[in-house]
Amino acid sequence: MAAWQDALVSTLITNIGELVTNAPGPGGAEAERTGARGFTGAVGFAALYDAALVIDDGRIAWTGQAAHAPAADERMDAAGRVVLPGFVDSHAHLIFAGERGDEFAARMAGVPYSAGGIRSTVAATRAASDAELEANLRGLAEEMLAQGITAFECKSGYGLTVADEARSVALAAGITPEVTYLGAHVVPPEFESDPAGYVDLVCGQMLKACAPHSKWVDVFCERGAFDADQARAVLAAGRAAGLEPRLHANQLGHGPGVQIAVEAGAASADHCTYLSDADVDALVASQTVATLLPGVEFSTRQPYPDARRLLDAGATVAIATDCNPGSCFTSSMAFCVALAVREMRMTTREAVWAATAGGARALRRDDVGHLGLGARADLVMLDAPSHAYLAYRPGVPLVAAVWRAGHLAFQA
Ligand SMILES: [Zn+2]
Repeated sequence: MAAWQDALVSTLITNIGELVTNAPGPGGAEAERTGARGFTGAVGFAALYDAALVIDDGRIAWTGQAAHAPAADERMDAAGRVVLPGFVDSHAHLIFAGERGDEFAARMAGVPYSAGGIRSTVAATRAASDAELEANLRGLAEEMLAQGITAFECKSGYGLTVADEARSVALAAGITPEVTYLGAHVVPPEFESDPAGYVDLVCGQMLKACAPHSKWVDVFCERGAFDADQARAVLAAGRAAGLEPRLHANQLGHGPGVQIAVEAGAASADHCTYLSDADVDALVASQTVATLLPGVEFSTRQPYPDARRLLDAGATVAIATDCNPGSCFTSSMAFCVALAVREMRMTTREAVWAATAGGARALRRDDVGHLGLGARADLVMLDAPSHAYLAYRPGVPLVAAVWRAGHLAFQA
């Protein structure tokens, strides 16, 4: 093990061809001066060229031109490759058992997607042992890390009993601080004739059991899942228990989700596939991030969200994987970036910003998603000279190394 894996030793990474910082100040100004390679416009995106950075005690201690880099205990040569902030995945469902490959195949053969498919994962999750769920969760987290995701959110929502939701959030809390209580994912079969009774449970005993391990509360606000009044009730109950709201909104059709998210002060409205002008206006005027999940539209063969409309209106946009066994079973942020660029007409800079700093905003985190001074030293180095390769070489495993809090956590 190299000494520079120790976060207490300062590390200089130099000869970085492109260093994406997303940071205001000197880095951003430098990016403009050396911006002949690119163009301006992507809100917040900033990069340095022929750059270096210093990690000290798990944090970014210095960034700038390689020629001016200070000395450090250890030195690594990036050989002209690109270094980016670690990806921040603000929307993932990783606590489940089973898989739904056959459902995907059927969908590709013409069977439409509906929220009801969630129930088959619920049955498998309830039947699984804690050890099985934890092994699956840790496996997916490792898969994400190897693809450059250094911070992620994780939702419950495949247990849907007090005990199964409680163990879901407890397992998630063992692996990420960004745990979301999603008891209101779908009404389970045993409450089919009494959805109001299920909402009472979600707002009552189940919330009480889950709140100690959760930071966020979420609702699948959609036809076939939970309506406006139910969504408002769950978010209000969650907030009263100390949880902050976020919301699945406007995925399968137009609906009240985005407006509910904004009025609740949610950190994020996720999906945003079907938006009215009023929805776009509400997002622009709010602190609520529009989180787009293009892997879902890919995997359900639905129309992609109109990212350009949101960006051009001035909304803050994040991209996340929505990794889950039903509607989108990818853990690749690079794939989502490629989709965002190719299918949603985001620029490569906008897409990379959305997958890093945008995800951090959607989790209300200011220590990740950028490489400004003092940020957590979460880095991805690609075997590529620029961030554009994430979309330019889709499907190619480009990640060379990943650092989390200054520790080398993955190396290809
Ligand atoms: Zn989701």
